[in-house]
Amino acid sequence: MKIDHHAPQHILQEVFGYSAFRGAQADIVQHVSGGGDALVLMPTGGGKSLCYQVPAIARHRGGRGVTLVVSPLIALMHDQVGALEEAGVHAAFLNSTLSSEEASRIEREMMSGRLVMLYAAPERITNPRFLAQLDSLHERGLLSLFAIDEAHCVSQWGHDFRNEYLELSLLHERFPDVPRVALTATADDITRADIIERLRLQEARVFISSFDRPNIRYTIVEKDSKPREQLLRFIRDEHEDDAGVVYCQSRKKVEETAAWLEAEGLKALPYHAGLDTGVRQRHQDRFLREDGIVMVATVAFGMGIDKPDVRFVAHLDLPKNIESYYQETGRGGRDGAAANAWMTYGLADVVNQRRMIDDSPSNEEFKQVQRGKLDALLALAEATDCRRQRLLGYFGEASQPCGNCDNCISPPATWDGTEAARKMLSCIYRFHQNGGQRFGAGHLIDVLRGKLTDKVGQYGHQSLSTWAVGADLSEQQWRAVLRQLIALGHVFTEGEYHTLALAETARAVLKGEVQLLLRVPASAPKRGARGSTRGASGKSGRAAAEALDLDGQAQQRFEALKAWRSEVAKEHGLPAYVIFQNVTLAEMARANPQSLDELSGISGVGAKKLEAYGREILRVLEA
Ligand code: ADP
Ligand code: ZN
Repeated sequence: MKIDHHAPQHILQEVFGYSAFRGAQADIVQHVSGGGDALVLMPTGGGKSLCYQVPAIARHRGGRGVTLVVSPLIALMHDQVGALEEAGVHAAFLNSTLSSEEASRIEREMMSGRLVMLYAAPERITNPRFLAQLDSLHERGLLSLFAIDEAHCVSQWGHDFRNEYLELSLLHERFPDVPRVALTATADDITRADIIERLRLQEARVFISSFDRPNIRYTIVEKDSKPREQLLRFIRDEHEDDAGVVYCQSRKKVEETAAWLEAEGLKALPYHAGLDTGVRQRHQDRFLREDGIVMVATVAFGMGIDKPDVRFVAHLDLPKNIESYYQETGRGGRDGAAANAWMTYGLADVVNQRRMIDDSPSNEEFKQVQRGKLDALLALAEATDCRRQRLLGYFGEASQPCGNCDNCISPPATWDGTEAARKMLSCIYRFHQNGGQRFGAGHLIDVLRGKLTDKVGQYGHQSLSTWAVGADLSEQQWRAVLRQLIALGHVFTEGEYHTLALAETARAVLKGEVQLLLRVPASAPKRGARGSTRGASGKSGRAAAEALDLDGQAQQRFEALKAWRSEVAKEHGLPAYVIFQNVTLAEMARANPQSLDELSGISGVGAKKLEAYGREILRVLEA
């Protein structure tokens, strides 16, 4: 049988050690290898890299020369290139961190056409010297393909806009016959249209993948008075020793939370844009290279982080909108093994996010769009039905209840809060009537529950008709009612003290025309109730191994392989997952191959790695 070394399927197996393309990958790779332009929309972790790497290799083998990969993530280029070289693909990067000798060496490799892929930051595209080099390559037929990663950076609608990305249309103007593939995980319609327009991709085929990430379990819990402890409980119960990301809104909170978790004995590190570049790079490296680091971060962290074994993403604060939530949670479980997306959210989150929009300097139209997006996120947080169905629905995808979110696993009890909501609204109304004063949540709930405080006495609120009409409900229940009323826009907050006021729409609720269905707050975490379909709960404390479903003997082999891998990774100055991912080591541990031939059948073992590491691995397994 004749083997076609240029065939994408062959390259997938030989270089990456994978037996099959996932979803749309096969079509995309076919199209791009053949010289077509493409815009690829795939969720984070969906497998975008192979969509340009396989065509780059195929075209290079066909004598077409070098693929230029444009990426905004200078800090990650070293590892990306290292991963390709480990797989036997000649790749390099050019950026400001290189010495001039290193840069010249790489330029020679590029100009000779030997290089398969060159990674560069967008600002290099406007460098005249670099453009002249591309001209020369192009004249000799050695400029194969342009891959534009994180393509949403070209759009002002996307949240990561970069000026330099605007210059990328230059590539097409100068080299109209060189095919281009642009890739992004941002799905939103406006952004998509913007990318096409700005990168002149009107002729490109658009590939939109399903946005579902079935191995991620979504959980949103009600914030109690000690959210950090809720977080710690979640990590201890489900993710002892696992790598994860904790998102907070402010830099201060990032630092406080990281310090607190560390004092509790976790390996936690802070990351935000206010930290020194050196510190940031060091923390990022540790996260990528060491096991079990919890990165506490603002949204400044995460883009392009392709660590496959992040087992959880937690939110201590509400993200801006569903796009952000999905992008951030999508950083968990890229390897396909079980991962958790966990968020704690409360009244203050709703109030803060609304305030941030109101106080921003943007125009009213922009604010209106932001408010709409926030509302969709709040509806997700308050939902009593399948979270995944709502998430996918937001991206225009229909689906069935998933069986792998908190609401599917233990459907929340609901209660009819319509009466309570009416009492609450009329109490706010009475405050206002009674001297035009406005009050905040605490006082409102005190009056409803009939709690005689100094403030009640001072304003004579015990004589209001709504005094103590809600003594039957707990303070937590009242907070849930208020949260819903604010989330739904019937009540809004004003000023420094977050005092409460009625919106026009409150009238319909007061008249009893709107029904309010509320979740019964889960006061204690229901341990055990989270009986998992995929084994995400790790009570043994070895959550990582459990997520990979290993029994005793296999577990021992897995640990031995990990120890071996960490030696190799250190020697090569690369993160461990670049050598082999955990899922690959787990499969080795399970299958316990006895020969190189058997080992080569394991997913993730390509020809180059088999040659470089095969014998050592068999030796480790024997021991
Ligand atoms: P993205 O860039 O879309 O976020 P990646 O390209 O990093 O995703 O891929 C996510 C993970 O899935 C990686 O660990 C990668 O090795 C793995 N992967 C991608 N495609 C395949 C495939 N066809 N078979 C097996 N694993 C794959
Ligand atoms: Zn569900």
